[in-house]
Amino acid sequence: MPKFVYDFTEGNKDLKDLLGGKGANLAEMTNLGLPVPPGFTITAEACRHYLEHGTLPEGLAEEVNAHLAALEGAMGKKLGEPGDPLLVSVRSGAKFSMPGMMETVLNVGLNDESVHGLAAQAGDERFAWDSYRRLIQMFGKTVLDVDGDLFEDAVEDVKRARGTDDDADLTADDFKDLVDRFKAIVREQAGREFPTDPREQMDLATEAVFESWNADRAILYRRQERIPVDLGTAVNICSMVFGNMGMDSGTGVAFTRDPASGHQGIYGDYLQNAQGEDVVAGIRNTVPLTELERIDKASYDRLLEIMETLENHYLDMCDIEFTIERGKLWMLQTRVGKRTAAAAFRIACQLLDQGLIDADEAARRVTGGQLAQLMFPRFASRVDGVKKITKGMNASPGAAVGKAVFTSERAVELAERGEDVILVRRETNPDDLSGMVAAKGVLTSRGGKTSHAAVVARGMGKTCVCGAEELDVDVKAGSFTAPGGVTVSEGDVISIDGSSGDVYLGEVPVEDSPVVRYFEGELSAADGDELVTAVNRVMEHADARAAMAVRANADNAEDAARARRFGARGIGLCRTEHMFLGDRRQLVEQLILAEGDDERQAALDALEPLQKQDFEGIFEAMDGLPVTIRLIDPPLHEFLPDITELSVRVALAGDGADPKDRRLLEAVTRLHEQNPMLGLRGVRLGLVIPGLFAMQVRAIAEAAAARKAAGGDPRPEIMIPLVGAVQELEAVRDEARGILDAVRESTGVDVPALVGTMIELPRAALTAGQIAEAAEFFSFGTNDLTQTTWGFSRDDVEAAFFSRYLELGIFGVSPFETLDREGVGRLVRIAAEEGRRARPGIKLGICGEHGGDPDSVHFCHEVGLDYVSCSPFRVPVARLEAGRAAI
Ligand code: ADP
Ligand code: MG
Ligand code: MG
Repeated sequence: MPKFVYDFTEGNKDLKDLLGGKGANLAEMTNLGLPVPPGFTITAEACRHYLEHGTLPEGLAEEVNAHLAALEGAMGKKLGEPGDPLLVSVRSGAKFSMPGMMETVLNVGLNDESVHGLAAQAGDERFAWDSYRRLIQMFGKTVLDVDGDLFEDAVEDVKRARGTDDDADLTADDFKDLVDRFKAIVREQAGREFPTDPREQMDLATEAVFESWNADRAILYRRQERIPVDLGTAVNICSMVFGNMGMDSGTGVAFTRDPASGHQGIYGDYLQNAQGEDVVAGIRNTVPLTELERIDKASYDRLLEIMETLENHYLDMCDIEFTIERGKLWMLQTRVGKRTAAAAFRIACQLLDQGLIDADEAARRVTGGQLAQLMFPRFASRVDGVKKITKGMNASPGAAVGKAVFTSERAVELAERGEDVILVRRETNPDDLSGMVAAKGVLTSRGGKTSHAAVVARGMGKTCVCGAEELDVDVKAGSFTAPGGVTVSEGDVISIDGSSGDVYLGEVPVEDSPVVRYFEGELSAADGDELVTAVNRVMEHADARAAMAVRANADNAEDAARARRFGARGIGLCRTEHMFLGDRRQLVEQLILAEGDDERQAALDALEPLQKQDFEGIFEAMDGLPVTIRLIDPPLHEFLPDITELSVRVALAGDGADPKDRRLLEAVTRLHEQNPMLGLRGVRLGLVIPGLFAMQVRAIAEAAAARKAAGGDPRPEIMIPLVGAVQELEAVRDEARGILDAVRESTGVDVPALVGTMIELPRAALTAGQIAEAAEFFSFGTNDLTQTTWGFSRDDVEAAFFSRYLELGIFGVSPFETLDREGVGRLVRIAAEEGRRARPGIKLGICGEHGGDPDSVHFCHEVGLDYVSCSPFRVPVARLEAGRAAI
């Protein structure tokens, strides 16, 4: 039978799978000799059993008994004992931190008798009754599903009767009164008495924590953060320490570095005479942690010492929850802290400079996703004509512009209509998650950098300004006021700057981020911007480590040039279809309507020089680097007028219809397909329309010859799309080779060109060994390969049912976003292996959207591809991930 319960002295930080992050780190701190209140952890495995079977695993109760007895022995008190009760907290804690998503119940063990014991022991009635009412409140909400607002309303009532709006003014009698009211609320709402048996409280709370794994907001958070659905949460039973025992007590949160900038210093919030969630919830105004030095110098010094111990032990920035009980400091939680993208790069380089980590580890500490965030535009530095209305705390960077909305429901509603919104709240709570996901940014008037809004926004990479205290937010009225008589109502556009904390009325224009300007070559690492310097260092190391090259998908000289500036080592996909659009449509129409070889050839002859020009520009931009050009892929009818419009026009004109329109309509009708994605496209076009591919190959060969004659170094790779059988490829390849030879002879210039194919049909992957005989390279077209492997039409299914599929856990993320390793990935592996076996050294790359997706880049590295290709803007992300994959 597995062991389901671990004392804090038994675990360590590497047991997160079993003990959850909180439990593993409580154990780690305990073993470091830091002051952690004793306790034990019930494993996530027990939770998984509970969620699967609806019952606790056999043997768990006995193990809990034994550990509780040991805890009672160590503390010299018994759980809930009337004279001198041991109280515990029952805390959730999963492998991956899900701030505020799941439940915790404090003060377990209090009842009508033990509350007196607690009062007597503490010499403080008020404190004891405050703790008791908190238990009923948390227990009622979490375990018995009572609407939390009912408790809040009761508190408001009592405060109003007292004529105060501060909890601190409430007396012991007020809290006694609240205990009675809360019990009545529980009785009415839950249809049962509040359980007074301490052990029953603890067990019910444990089960409720297990169940909170499947709360809606937890599910949504996991989907957003791509956390697996089946991990379950551990439960930590931790003896209580009290921050609400008077002004020499308090509770706080801290970071060992600024989670927004990465700078070293004292960052955090502290609240005197308060318990647990009071700080994070932002219900009362905290003081900056530096104030603690004045309030309680000994505890402050001890805290700094512990923070340094933790950084040196975890070799990373940590965040911390602590409580001071009558001058004694207790550590309640730590973990490697969430940070902004910029801070991640800076901290990695700072730790590198401090000699705490090496360059490989520094690269591991940042992600492509973070780099992508740093490339988002930000507000222009000069803002004219837009009024700055206030400044809050810069909680999570970025520039967000949108309509103000005041509830999560409205945020979701408007976002679904495609509108940009900013969610404005006094403070957020876990129920606001859907609104935060939907919004471009979040603005709150209360709470510090560790408030719920700030923590969650940073985790999501969402712009957030919090604690803008000058704002008076009235959610019911759907408006807020700012100094100077400004009122902003729902729908008014505001701009928030998460890097400075500034809030503007109106739309502030945005500009390129310094990181983009660095990639563009406009800023250099030597210019003194700390972030740019850090990014440069990490990128240089990643490039040095990467086994794969990164190319770009670019169809014109301008994109090619930008991709090159961003570090692309060639083009992996140059689509040629746009070369048939615009003015050239007419020529395509001529081609399709041609009666006889001569007319068709005339149309092709007219297209050829235009294409040649396009290719020359691209070769020039990518001089010396490979350029993979895909011959035309989409069905030709895409270049013809819309069938409905044309039918109407012909019908309306009746006998007087333009004969050309009639012929066009006939052609459109003839070419119309039910499933164009599976129709006459790709190599099939090349085989059916004589001269089409030949014209393109000639344009490529002549462009290359012209570039070479002009002193350039063009490196064309000709790619045939949608091949399913080697015979298709052979036919096209032979024709292409013939043309390349002919152009070599006619121009007298020899430009070597590869001829290869895309692998984007399951049949191609499964017969890759044969296909490789005729292909000098493979490029995995994973968009089509995903469509054809799953039988999904990308253009239709995402909207139709993907959200349902995500809900059902059929996949955790759309297979069009992240390569489906098991299915599509398996085909890629097969093709790569068999292709290499048939043609050792065959060049292998990928050119689907996946080429810029971090997880997919790691997969490509594992399969041993030579390169990934992605959109120019994603090139730095892919470079970073290619390097990280190799570390
Ligand atoms: P979360 O994961 O939402 O932070 P926690 O389990 O950390 O939930 O607990 C919520 C709050 O209660 C935190 O502020 C924490 O510090 C406080 N807390 C938890 N256990 C104890 C305890 N044994 N004594 C005092 N405060 C506690
Ligand atoms: Mg916590
Ligand atoms: Mg394709």
